[in-house]
Amino acid sequence: MRMKAAVCYGVREPLVIEEIELDPPKANEVLVKMAASGVCYSDVSMYEGHIPRDFPLILGHEGAGVVEQVGEGVTNVKEGDHVVLTYLPSCGKCRWCHIGQPTMCDLGQYLRTGNMLDGTSRLHRAKDGLDIFNLLFVSTFAEYSVVPDASLVPVADYLPLEKLCLLGCGFTTGFGSATNTIHIKPGETVTIVGCGGLGTAAIQGARISGAGKIIAVDVHEEKLSRAKEFGATHTIQSRSDPDAVVKEIMDITWGLGTDYSIELVGADQTDDTYQVAFKAIRKGGTMVMVGAADYRKRDIPVDPYTLTLWRKKLVGVLFGDAQFQTDIPKYVGLYENKQIDLDNMVTKEIGLEDINQAIQDVLDGDKVIRSVIRY
Ligand SMILES: [Zn+2]
Ligand SMILES: [Zn+2]
Repeated sequence: MRMKAAVCYGVREPLVIEEIELDPPKANEVLVKMAASGVCYSDVSMYEGHIPRDFPLILGHEGAGVVEQVGEGVTNVKEGDHVVLTYLPSCGKCRWCHIGQPTMCDLGQYLRTGNMLDGTSRLHRAKDGLDIFNLLFVSTFAEYSVVPDASLVPVADYLPLEKLCLLGCGFTTGFGSATNTIHIKPGETVTIVGCGGLGTAAIQGARISGAGKIIAVDVHEEKLSRAKEFGATHTIQSRSDPDAVVKEIMDITWGLGTDYSIELVGADQTDDTYQVAFKAIRKGGTMVMVGAADYRKRDIPVDPYTLTLWRKKLVGVLFGDAQFQTDIPKYVGLYENKQIDLDNMVTKEIGLEDINQAIQDVLDGDKVIRSVIRY
């Protein structure tokens, strides 16, 4: 079938909207008519070359839509089901899926190929048949997507897909970092470094866990005022001196430091953002690293002496450590009951033709929490 998609031909090359020939789903694959896709910071990190990919490529990994057709052997969804696409697959059979850690599913080893699990592409440029790589099996900057049946979660059909799409990456990644990776108890305290899409979700995770103090740190005043709407109790505009930020955190926590810090800056991570997140935590506290760093970065400036003597913990987390087949339906329920806010995370709705402006908005830093493409 023919569809329109936004194709990226190389690092920092503006995306081109063009006709793509999409093959029908093969065995254990599903054709999804996209309803909406968020424009995530990680899409922009790939566009910028901070995360390596092969080109030409259709970006987008935070999508939701309606099942149009299922391939042979698909049993978890049927035509007409509403689904959230997940940027990591979960086979349900491997060792990691069995121990409740699907973010480490063995199918993940094929995500870098840019092809489907059988090693071939379903995406071809209409004018000459050139194969196009997919992104993480989902490629949501397109009107349709053929995905493995391991890369989607069925959801309620009466809630807006243009909001539920955030569960496919940003919301789940941020919220899960505060509710799965660490288990904040009522009254405990947390520093949130970086208040974009992931940060506002982490703030909500901390709020719903009963955190006593949620200290939001960002360079943009606009993001800090939004952070308060999502539940931050204190905000600090980060300045050039990370020690000044840490001093403010100490003042707020009566000199103790917070029980946890969550670093969600992404490829803009600097020595200062690491320093703030590491120095913010108390003795025995935990620092969680969420945003994907530039793949060329090799060192985190963490003082190993303090790490040991203060018994601090530093942990990495992927996709919010979510058990996404069961966590995403739970988040849908929290959204329905208005216990979490996805609506105000979407600060701009756009068409696919606006994709290059949406990327620029992310690069500008203070324009949007999330732009969502509606198809
Ligand atoms: Zn993402
Ligand atoms: Zn698995």
